[in-house]
Amino acid sequence: MSLPFLRSAVVQLAAYTPHVEAADAPSPASLDILDTNECPYDLPEALKEKLAWHLHHDIAANRYPDGGHGALKGAIAQYVSETAAPSTFGADHISVGNGSDELIRSLLIATCAGGEGSILVADPTFSMYGILARTLGIDVVTVGRSEDSFEVDLAAAQQAIVQPQGAPVRAVFMVHPNSPTGNALAAAELVWLESLPADILVVVDEAYFEFSQQTTVAQVLHRSNWVVLRTFSKAFRLAAFRVGYAVANPALAQALEKVRLPYNLPSLTQAAAQLALAHRQELLAVVPEIQQQRRELATAIAQHTPLRLWPSDANFLYGRPPAQPGPPQKQELERWFNHLRRQGTLVRHTGGGLRITVGTPAENQRTLAHMQQL
Ligand SMILES: *Cc1c(COP(=O)(O)O)cnc(C)c1O
Repeated sequence: MSLPFLRSAVVQLAAYTPHVEAADAPSPASLDILDTNECPYDLPEALKEKLAWHLHHDIAANRYPDGGHGALKGAIAQYVSETAAPSTFGADHISVGNGSDELIRSLLIATCAGGEGSILVADPTFSMYGILARTLGIDVVTVGRSEDSFEVDLAAAQQAIVQPQGAPVRAVFMVHPNSPTGNALAAAELVWLESLPADILVVVDEAYFEFSQQTTVAQVLHRSNWVVLRTFSKAFRLAAFRVGYAVANPALAQALEKVRLPYNLPSLTQAAAQLALAHRQELLAVVPEIQQQRRELATAIAQHTPLRLWPSDANFLYGRPPAQPGPPQKQELERWFNHLRRQGTLVRHTGGGLRITVGTPAENQRTLAHMQQL
């Protein structure tokens, strides 16, 4: 149906679709969900009970949530300080979002909307930067990466900044470690990001920080143009609750507070995030196990399948089928994706490769077995 009142950018946009179906087969009865990089373990039953207690005793359903997120921001600042000792952060360095996706959108509104700027990303990378930018009419400048290391083509990036084709680049978005390719920012990339002038915002998305243990968050304290995004959706096991946070200098954190919706985080979500932080030792205790599983799965895939894998600092692996003399790479990728999907292993087909979340030991064994059948 023609809806002539819609902006052309919205008409042209395809909606984000997680959990893509296999082209030629219905979903099997049980499916290993290894395409969205969550932690494979649900919140422990005791914590769910505590959360239910909060729902029953602390939360008045008829009242708006705390729109200032005061208690949650304090707890996040404490956690962030632990991850960056001896740097310390206060609640005024934090802004909380309905998932870090909301913070990405707030950053775009605060920096580039209204024709004032474009963003720079290096493909392949997290698709939401480009999707959200386009919904806001913001141009996306894309540069490439090395096919070997997936390091950003810094010469092209510098060129795009010095000689912009359209609106000037106002924000650079980098994932650390990158999704889908799994590589953390290398020294040269960090040096380049640090060299960017104060009128370009550097956004370092550390969604996988707990798995990589690498952070740039201390930069926030001495650079006015640096912001770190993190989320409770991955290692903290709260994807269902939608909560992410930005760490920035207080003036930038305040700008994010201005552009967000007033009650962006439901009361139960705030309670869940505070509970997860209070029990972080218990929740994050599985991180070393997942790192170990990642190493074992990578070794096994390399030994028993022809998939070419890259090193990963996150809780997922990225691989590409070997170049075939016959069918083009895209068809070969689809063959892998569809086969795995039919067998009951759902991975993500993105960026010219397959991104495979590290799951439980049983899931990882099935991932390997399903690949070996190919
Ligand atoms: C998963 C992920 C996020 C998290 O998004 P939420 O909205 O917090 O669930 C952000 N950035 C990247 C790169 C991710 O992979």
